[in-house]
Amino acid sequence: MEKFVQKTFPHGVHFHDNKELSKEQAIEVMPLASDVFISVSQHIGAPSTPIVKAGDQVVKGQLIADAVGGLGSKVYASVCGEVVGIVKKVGAAGGMADHIHIKTSEQQDQVISLPALETKDKESVLNRIFEAGIVGMGGAGFPTNVKLKPAKPVDTLIINGAECEPYITCDYRLMLEKANEVIAGAKYLAMACGIEKVVFGIEANKMDCAQLFADLGADVVVLKKKYPQGAEKDLIVAVNGRRVPCGGLPMDVGVVVQNIATAYAAYEAVELDKPCYERLMTVSGRAINSTKNIIVANGTRYSDIIEYCGGLKDDVCKLISGGPMMGFAVVDTSISTTKTTGSLLALTAKETNLDKPTNCINCGRCAKACPMSLMPMYMDFYTLAGDYDTAVKYGVMNCFECGSCAYVCPARRQIVQSVRLCKKKLRERKK
Ligand code: SF4
Ligand code: SF4
Repeated sequence: MEKFVQKTFPHGVHFHDNKELSKEQAIEVMPLASDVFISVSQHIGAPSTPIVKAGDQVVKGQLIADAVGGLGSKVYASVCGEVVGIVKKVGAAGGMADHIHIKTSEQQDQVISLPALETKDKESVLNRIFEAGIVGMGGAGFPTNVKLKPAKPVDTLIINGAECEPYITCDYRLMLEKANEVIAGAKYLAMACGIEKVVFGIEANKMDCAQLFADLGADVVVLKKKYPQGAEKDLIVAVNGRRVPCGGLPMDVGVVVQNIATAYAAYEAVELDKPCYERLMTVSGRAINSTKNIIVANGTRYSDIIEYCGGLKDDVCKLISGGPMMGFAVVDTSISTTKTTGSLLALTAKETNLDKPTNCINCGRCAKACPMSLMPMYMDFYTLAGDYDTAVKYGVMNCFECGSCAYVCPARRQIVQSVRLCKKKLRERKK
């Protein structure tokens, strides 16, 4: 057993991670639902343009929406079936988006692959990542091919195996069950970026993965179990001690960060010629009958996933897409999964904070918890007072909405909501 020194970042919060609910659930494939609704807005950037119309027969792996512009991403059919039409509905991140509705057919034996790569060099692998429609699958949805072409020199690729949000265990299962594939995918990501040094940052609650990866020859840094250890800037500080400046990007300190699921998708695209049309996600929480780690076809409705997991318990209080700290409350179970949907949580009242906010008591705990060393109490105060410029002075634009401040606040101040409100007002002002 290798002795690992645990590294970390300043501040942050500790809490029970609730991963025991799903971490033993091995990866399984969810049967296809009767219908899928595949969003054309699954990434940061211009929505993809549908290239199919109602009545078209499509095959799993077929391109159905093409990339638009420099930040575009391709979208592929996740099932064989007939296109019913293009419908506007609520997307996974809350806004309205066009979705390609496909009626799943009985026959599912046809799959289209990408053409086999003749050579695996920097250019061909980078292009394959674009062609496969891979985006940051840790939740950000930034087109991966763009992130692999940083405007500044970089020397280190960090693969983010922190998975620091409570409940979620899909990256854990991928690392445990597909270690060789994840390591191979990481090497392709590094190749596409022209980087030689690849480091896996793995949180200490996944020591079996850390040991497995080290045994397979990977460079592993074990990270203390602390939230938000997986946030890019905190991860970089912990792994190699470099500090990304305020308003800066990882490339400013010579680093590119990619997620475990993205590395796995790169492996599938390069080695198996498979475009990105399905992904592994965790279904967990104490209000779902059966927790699972399942591979789900892109565009599957949450209602179908819930049904496959045995339905909701009577004491369900809240559904969340993503983690409980940074995810989105689900108000409509007809919302469908995207390339970035890593989890669906069904929480009871005991697992949810329903307390009403009270006045700030100036205890300073929020500032102590903030990994960005911001002053959350003032950001909250000035935003609610309508003084957005002063809120900016206290760091609103450097806040990445991790929720640590709100978690520790005894007054239950809704600080993240204030930050989002302030950013929204500033965006509106620019229009
Ligand atoms: S102010 Fe922002 S970055 Fe700091 S703890 Fe709160 S949500 Fe996280
Ligand atoms: S933790 Fe809450 S109560 Fe304490 S200073 Fe921050 S906002 Fe105020």
